[in-house]
Amino acid sequence: MSLTVVGSVAFDALETPFGKRDKILGGAATHFSLAASFFTQVNAVGVVGGDFGGDEWGVFRRHHINTDDIEVIADGKTFFWSGRYDYDMNTAETLDTQLNVFETFDPKLSENSKRAKLLFLANIQPTLQKRVREQCPDAKFVAMDTMNYWITSAKDALLETVKVVDCTIINDAEARQLTDEPNIHRAAKKILDLGLKAVVIKRGEYGATLFTKDGYFATPAYPLESVFDPTGAGDTFAGGFMGYLASQDSIEDDTLRRAMVYGSVMASFNVEKFGTQRVDALDYPEINQRFKAFKKMTHFEDIPFERATTAA
Ligand code: AMP
Repeated sequence: MSLTVVGSVAFDALETPFGKRDKILGGAATHFSLAASFFTQVNAVGVVGGDFGGDEWGVFRRHHINTDDIEVIADGKTFFWSGRYDYDMNTAETLDTQLNVFETFDPKLSENSKRAKLLFLANIQPTLQKRVREQCPDAKFVAMDTMNYWITSAKDALLETVKVVDCTIINDAEARQLTDEPNIHRAAKKILDLGLKAVVIKRGEYGATLFTKDGYFATPAYPLESVFDPTGAGDTFAGGFMGYLASQDSIEDDTLRRAMVYGSVMASFNVEKFGTQRVDALDYPEINQRFKAFKKMTHFEDIPFERATTAA
């Protein structure tokens, strides 16, 4: 099943305790597409300026990502985001956002992109997300992300968009803010009650949690000793999650659980190097090995405890 993603394609400037990069390939749609491309055929929908060069296109090309719907505005500049992380790598401090060509982004989907069976609406203006969703009536599983900016400035529109998707993939702070509910379980339930099939809550270095009407599943994050750059980890998670789902014939509870693990696997690679560098160079044996490591890390036998003879 093919997969379409709509979102930012960017240049990022990043500063972490381990180094600095001035201008590297980034953007939510970029990180998502790269991760998903290991599982399925991906159509990326976005916009870039004339400054988007051969090296950047090369990353998409190497992974056979369909870029026909990435519009090029030759006399414009690509969206630019600059962020810094302290030792708490869970939260980015935004230093600069230059929307450039992204300011007037009007996603144009080709027939091919519209026909995709799965759709991911990365973090863009909620009304645009809804419009894109309406252009893909055949999509059988649609997921979306958002950010605190839209929850604060366009909550009503955002809730209207949430109502027309099957799944949200957002972080814990966003879930709390969206529902005005401090407890994460109640927050997830409130979102599910809007008519969704699944709610995924990302918790940075603490992993991710899946809520469905009848189920609950949690994955840890892979225990890495050197997290280099967390930028795009959330989008990479979403790419692994949606990419895996797209590779399956049907989406059941079991499939969603494995998708959570593939999302976590892909995100764990993304943070090992700056920007897209690590996922760009990834191979299947590495993915499978880490998937197995997740299984080992979380597996336990169902052996009931019998009263110890030493117990009082
Ligand atoms: P994440 O770390 O998963 O939240 O995603 C980071 C990516 O999102 C970076 O590569 C940025 O280029 C991109 N980004 C940052 N701010 C925005 C924004 N306001 N709208 C869309 N994309 C953004």
